[in-house]
Amino acid sequence: MEELQNALNNKNLTISTLLEKGRCLFAARDFSPGEVIISENPYVSVSNKNKESPESKCEWCFSSNNLKKCSACHVVWYCSSKCQRSDWKLHSVECKALSKVDKERVKSLTPSIRLMVRLCIQRKLENEKIYPTSAMDNYKLVEALVSHMSDVDEKQMVLYAQMANLINLILQWPDSEINIKEIAENFSKLACNAHTVCDSELRPLGTGLYPVISIINHSCLPNSVLVFEGRMAVVRAMQHIPKGTEVLISYVEIAGSTVTRQKALKEQYFFTCACSRCIKMGQVDDIKESAILEGYRCKDSQCDGFLLRDSDDREFICQQCGLLGDKEEIKYITSELQLMSEKASMSLSSGRKTEAIVAYKTIEEFQLKLYHPFSINLMRTRETLLKIFMELQDWEEAFKYCRLTIPIYERVYPKCHPLLGLQYYMCGKLEWLLGETEQAVRSLTKALDVLRITHGTKTPFMMELLSKLDEARAEASYKLHPQIED
Ligand SMILES: [Zn+2]
Ligand SMILES: [Zn+2]
Ligand SMILES: [Zn+2]
Ligand SMILES: [Zn+2]
Repeated sequence: MEELQNALNNKNLTISTLLEKGRCLFAARDFSPGEVIISENPYVSVSNKNKESPESKCEWCFSSNNLKKCSACHVVWYCSSKCQRSDWKLHSVECKALSKVDKERVKSLTPSIRLMVRLCIQRKLENEKIYPTSAMDNYKLVEALVSHMSDVDEKQMVLYAQMANLINLILQWPDSEINIKEIAENFSKLACNAHTVCDSELRPLGTGLYPVISIINHSCLPNSVLVFEGRMAVVRAMQHIPKGTEVLISYVEIAGSTVTRQKALKEQYFFTCACSRCIKMGQVDDIKESAILEGYRCKDSQCDGFLLRDSDDREFICQQCGLLGDKEEIKYITSELQLMSEKASMSLSSGRKTEAIVAYKTIEEFQLKLYHPFSINLMRTRETLLKIFMELQDWEEAFKYCRLTIPIYERVYPKCHPLLGLQYYMCGKLEWLLGETEQAVRSLTKALDVLRITHGTKTPFMMELLSKLDEARAEASYKLHPQIED
């Protein structure tokens, strides 16, 4: 690990091991907002089709353009011969193995199985010196990752063992070259260390193992953000990071209440977060915030108070006007909402969009009665409606919902969060399409202020934002002073 320490020193970073959190990455100099702290290519990665991004992707760079299928295995795609060549050392071994597996079976292999096949091959190539290593790119870094094997329950352990056996079946290597126990442990490592590779709009493209970036710990109020540029993971400072500060990103959605965030972290990453937000758990402010984000609203539609249970835990009381919440009504609406949500998501997943719109609008109505206006549940419903209207290219309706999400986004995300920047961007694009040029300029400027820090300025995605803003500015000034242009 000394080699890694030296490589990181050259990047003005240091690793320390703290008793309560394990390895931590520290800044060895000041970093300013938007500055790249560290970037890393994956040790192994795999592309993935999913609901949000159903098209095939290049196995190397995750692009969806100009794809050609590998003619031997018919499993992986490449956007160029350059990408195919870059992946060839690994894929030539993978290709032979996958070609021997039944075609239907290959299709059903999960991303984690495919990633593990790749990890085993990469390790072998490294051992045989076919694949060159560097301080920041070698299997020892994978060995150093935490596996949390002792936290995994027996059922999960059995599943990992079965998955390891499947890898053995796919690779068909001699016994001396395969270690089932190590593979099972590596599955456990992937579960808490692999990253979802996303595009600039944070839509998932695949999964990658970035063992150096995995050293970075979590905070629910992070000072840094992880984004991807193609296959490369890039960590940027979201705020000024003074020398000697720990670099922190968020592993989970940070919009939820402290209880929700803690639960997500415990379930997937097996630790109890003690960040500056989480240590406030149970304090008055934290209870208030949770009640607003995930709790109920006052029965009086004119009051924007939120409800808390009284000391006997029997009644819900509005903290603003003192009105009692109707427990039976809350129970009734909650169970109705549950049923409606199931129906709505079924309509949506089977492509019946008009039906889904009606269902989600009814859900929104019920949620407005039940939840506080800043509720996360309400925000999710509006996000879904926004997505459906975007797909239908109904810009007016889409804008209506986009605009409604902004105040909640501004409340639940730090002012420099990529999701907030992307929502401003969406708002700006819709305003422009609807001819609201001046508003579009305002929203696109807000988007740029956030995204130039989280996404840098040089990617094609940011170039597009910059040119959209230029165009909108020109159009707005023409609208304001048409005589000057004439
Ligand atoms: Zn490519
Ligand atoms: Zn192939
Ligand atoms: Zn936390
Ligand atoms: Zn009230």
